[in-house]
Amino acid sequence: MFEVISTDPRTSARCGILHTAHGAIKTPMFMPVATKGTIKTLSPEQGFSTGARTIISNAMLLSLRPGSDLIGKNGGLHKFMNWPGSIFTDSGGFQVLNDELRVKVTDEGVLFKSPYDGQKQMLTPEVCSHIQEEIGSDVAMVLDDCPKYGLGYEGTAVSLERTLRWAKQFKEAHSRPEQMVFAITQGGVFEELRARSAQVLLDMDFDGYAVGGLSIGEPKSEMYRVLESHVKDLPANKPRYLMGVGSPEDLLKCIARGIDIFDSVFPTRNARHNTIYTSNGRLNIGKEKYSQQVGPLDEGCGCEACSNYSFSYVNHLLREHEIFGMTLASIHNLHFLMNMLDEARDAIGNGTFTEYSRQFLDAYEK
Ligand SMILES: [Zn+2]
Repeated sequence: MFEVISTDPRTSARCGILHTAHGAIKTPMFMPVATKGTIKTLSPEQGFSTGARTIISNAMLLSLRPGSDLIGKNGGLHKFMNWPGSIFTDSGGFQVLNDELRVKVTDEGVLFKSPYDGQKQMLTPEVCSHIQEEIGSDVAMVLDDCPKYGLGYEGTAVSLERTLRWAKQFKEAHSRPEQMVFAITQGGVFEELRARSAQVLLDMDFDGYAVGGLSIGEPKSEMYRVLESHVKDLPANKPRYLMGVGSPEDLLKCIARGIDIFDSVFPTRNARHNTIYTSNGRLNIGKEKYSQQVGPLDEGCGCEACSNYSFSYVNHLLREHEIFGMTLASIHNLHFLMNMLDEARDAIGNGTFTEYSRQFLDAYEK
């Protein structure tokens, strides 16, 4: 269940609460990615300490290893990985977009090669629903066919019809009432197809609507254009989730366009490759020039890394490829995003989101 708490008078930004089987989550929210059942280099406690309350794992990969039945036997993914918050599972439809994995897409489903042993596997809407029920996530994502950026209108239209059929099949196969199901809209950069996508999926009455097929290589201006028109196709009383977007500046710009939920590997992947977010923009903290720097990574940040360790220590660890350096940088980046979202929600609540966003972006993008 989702409730809208407040809306910004000047933009499409809004605050809400997503009620899940494992807690009420304030939106706008960001989900760290825990593809294989862990946020890379972080314990669940460390992940939770950043302020993250929801993560997203990959159902398809978990069903191959260690097996969704095994996770089910362990009492579900929350117990299996000891995560105290909520969990979304991605269907895996996006991962098989990868040419190395995809064998072929038919009306029945996606035939793909296991990244582990190369064996061919068939992912159908019914299989996809079943494995997410076994994993026991709070929110399951339908199987969709995500066309590559650049595919023309005709091809995108054919792919969209498949996505719409699969959504219906998924919903019919799904049987766990406590698990919410989100649909995924497609239609590429074509407003007319996006509108049709929303219209058909709305009739099926899902718990939430994800916007798929953006942030896959199109120019940013194109993404914002599609988003601005497409958000109007989506219902006000359901959560809107933009998949695969996670930089601080994109979050604020997409919140202003009416998005409630985000996920991306970038904050943690960037951290593992020495890049952190600060109020003055991105910073490569692995450079030699920081090797003598005392004081925290980011003045004014209250995260575990900035509270307890010096810049030169984290720099030293990263240059030695020590895992703990990656851990500290990941904690910082996630905390940075969670803190920004706290501030953004406050600003939406008191009608100052435009000013907050402008101030943040002026400093961050300067
Ligand atoms: Zn920090």
